[in-house]
Amino acid sequence: MHGVGGQVIWVDLTKGQVEKRPLEEEIVRDYLLGVGYLSRVLTDEIGAERDPFSPGNVLGIATGLLTGSMFPQSSRFTIAALSPLTDIWGESHAAGFWGPELKLAGYDAVFFRGASASPVYLHIEDSEVNLHDAEQVWGMGVFQTDDILRKRHGRMTRVLSIGQAGENLVRFAAIMNDRDRASARSGLGAVMGAKKLKAVSVRGHGKITVAHPEVYLTEMDEFYRRMLANPFTPGRAKYGTTHLIELMQHIGRLPSYNMRQGVFEGYDRIGGDAINECYLVKPRADWSCLQRCGRFTAVRTGPYAYQGGSPEFESQSSLGSRCGNANLESILYAHHLSNMYGLDTISLGGTISWAMEAWEQGLITSEDTGGIDLTWGNHESIVKLTRMIALREGFGDLLAEGSARAAVRIGRGSDRFVMAVKKQEMAGQEPRAQKSMGLAAATAARGADHLYGFPVLDEVGFDDDIRERFGEKYLPEMADRLNPKYKGIMVKECEDFMVMIESVGLCKYGTQIPPEFYYDDVAKALRLHNGLEVTPAQIQLIGERIVNLNRLFNARRGITRRDDSLPRRLTDEPAPNGPSAGQTVELEQMLDEYYACRGWDLVSGLPLKSTLERLGLSKDALN
Ligand code: SF4
Repeated sequence: MHGVGGQVIWVDLTKGQVEKRPLEEEIVRDYLLGVGYLSRVLTDEIGAERDPFSPGNVLGIATGLLTGSMFPQSSRFTIAALSPLTDIWGESHAAGFWGPELKLAGYDAVFFRGASASPVYLHIEDSEVNLHDAEQVWGMGVFQTDDILRKRHGRMTRVLSIGQAGENLVRFAAIMNDRDRASARSGLGAVMGAKKLKAVSVRGHGKITVAHPEVYLTEMDEFYRRMLANPFTPGRAKYGTTHLIELMQHIGRLPSYNMRQGVFEGYDRIGGDAINECYLVKPRADWSCLQRCGRFTAVRTGPYAYQGGSPEFESQSSLGSRCGNANLESILYAHHLSNMYGLDTISLGGTISWAMEAWEQGLITSEDTGGIDLTWGNHESIVKLTRMIALREGFGDLLAEGSARAAVRIGRGSDRFVMAVKKQEMAGQEPRAQKSMGLAAATAARGADHLYGFPVLDEVGFDDDIRERFGEKYLPEMADRLNPKYKGIMVKECEDFMVMIESVGLCKYGTQIPPEFYYDDVAKALRLHNGLEVTPAQIQLIGERIVNLNRLFNARRGITRRDDSLPRRLTDEPAPNGPSAGQTVELEQMLDEYYACRGWDLVSGLPLKSTLERLGLSKDALN
């Protein structure tokens, strides 16, 4: 097959052994690569294992079929394992250059099983794949680790590593690559920590062959032209996602004060314009990217001085409005610390804002916090807690467990302020202002998640794309973010599409927002790049197969309809103010539509036998 490295690396950390295997093309035919490939392999490998920190957990990293191609925004790779935050399917994705480099070295995926007795890292350089002693970098942050490994193995080496948070088994520890690209969700950094695996560095000098070189450049050029002509492209290059703060405030979807409301009075002090005006150094792009949502920023003086990667919308809202914090420099700095320690900023802000609301209600006191004041907007406390969580110091040790577990430990009724689904903190979408996001958070395989389905088509002004992708008959209801009707259909289709996109290694920017490329474009690219003759309908079915396999992985661990829930605040308490005042999430109505459309049982929420047969998953059925 073209466009792939053709080999997979398996590392047994207990035995210290490295093995290379050919890429199984029969799995690729049914699941593509990326998250689809990992879903198949890890469902089989992890089996009934229930302890994410046990050597029996297997961590997989896989590029997509188009990763490293010339298709716009084709830099992505996926990491997956049993999650220490949710105890169910965990996956996370990142862009940058690490994924393409792995392919240039001749590999498509790397798996780690077992656990090492002492810290190690894996270095891959073409045919040389070896475990190395990591004592020198254990205890160091991500940037220092990156510096040392690149000095040791060459400046062009790409490094993926954990910081102190992963080493300390913080349940929402991230895995970082290219210094500030984060595979943040699901706490997979802690799985690396439990395995004593500090880093995976890679350098490749090979080539990625393409199936149709005679037309490849011309056809890819056409994709680039379309991306450049898209009206979204100039704005994304100017702001990244930072200007979403202003847009979300406008529609009442900006999570504020632990999602008590969807508007924040200090929004303009933490938004895209504020960052661009004073702190932007330059935008940055990942491999083959025209959207360029990445950026470098700097705070030049004061207690929050730093220089490095910039927060995007999720970090701004999580460490900002969600904690009632309008001090932009502290948000930039806490984000910088999170990159250094390797923390998921969504769960970080979600956990701190839970503690702040519990403090406001008198359920957490300074006796619990060791004297740290948790008044809304106390930016010094937010920054201090970021460090204490990563290092598991004092009150930070409790928060390092995530808000759901911390609430159980604190008790006193504080669990009613946990804004999480399946123990993962919700991202920056106040769902009372966009009902599809509420449904997507409830059904996503990895717990609360905006990206698994990423149903942004009802966000604002994508009516034509809904018409094109779904049909006229669903308008105007499907495009109305406050109307629950047809959101089950929309979320189902978006999930199938997005897992397919993560299986080919494309960015969601360009495929979902803006919705420029769709199944027919991806099928064409797979033919040109990989020589894979697939129809749009076939890759659509593969997406559906992956979602169902993820559901079965979770069902083995007891997940049913009961768990596809939202915090009661969002379903029972009307939004108190802003453009979505009075709204609640009509979750049960949307779930019925979603399950019916998925072919899942309405009571249990599990795939019906006929659905599994249609998708070729009968052998995976629960007994
Ligand atoms: S849009 Fe952003 S995340 Fe996507 S490939 Fe470009 S820089 Fe990376």
